[in-house]
Amino acid sequence: MNRRVTKFGEKILKEKTEEVSNFDGELKQLAADLVDTMYEEKGLGLAAPQIGISKKVFAIDMRQRVNTDVPCVFTLDGKELPLDLAMPLVAVNPEVEEIGEYVEIAEEGCLSFPGVFAEVERSAMVKMRYFDTDGIGHELVCEGLFARCVQHENDHLSGICFVDHLSQKQLFKIEPKLKKIKRQTRDFLKEQHKKTV
Ligand SMILES: [Zn+2]
Repeated sequence: MNRRVTKFGEKILKEKTEEVSNFDGELKQLAADLVDTMYEEKGLGLAAPQIGISKKVFAIDMRQRVNTDVPCVFTLDGKELPLDLAMPLVAVNPEVEEIGEYVEIAEEGCLSFPGVFAEVERSAMVKMRYFDTDGIGHELVCEGLFARCVQHENDHLSGICFVDHLSQKQLFKIEPKLKKIKRQTRDFLKEQHKKTV
C-alpha cells in the first residue's frame, strides 16, 4: 500500500528508530508498504521513518537508478548476483560499516526533501550486515551509488538526513528551498490537526 512520505520539518525524521524484534506479519506489511511507496515515488530507497514508522527498516531498489549504464557492483552473502535477484532489498536492523579508504562526492536528493539536491561525501564502499523480513541474516558489500544509497537510508534510521552532512555554505544555498518545505509541512500538520480535533 502506498503511504504518504513524511517531509522535512516532521519530528519523526529526527528521531532514532527502534530495533525490530518480531519478524512477523506486521514487519512484512511495513516492508511491502516501503517498497510500494518507493516505486510510487520513483525513489532509489526509502526508510521506515519516511512513511511514519520509527523502526530500523529500509528498502532499496537499484534498478530505479537514472543512469542504468553504470554497473551496480555488489556481492550478497559473498556471491555476485544478477540485480533482479537481489532487488528490491529490504534491510532490517542493519549495521553498516565503511570499508576502504576511498570517499566519493556526488549529488544526493531525498523524497522527504522534494526538489533539494546537494553534493555529499560518502564512503565509496560499505559492508552491511542485516536481516531480511524472515529474520535471516545477510551480508552485503557494495560500491559507488549502491554504497551511497545504503549510507543515506541507514542514516535515516539514526534520525540523520542528508542535509545534516552539508557545509554552512551548501546549506546557505538551499536555505530558501528548505524553508519552503518546512512551511508546507507546518501547514499540512495544522490541517491534519484540525481534521482530527
Ligand atoms: Zn532520504
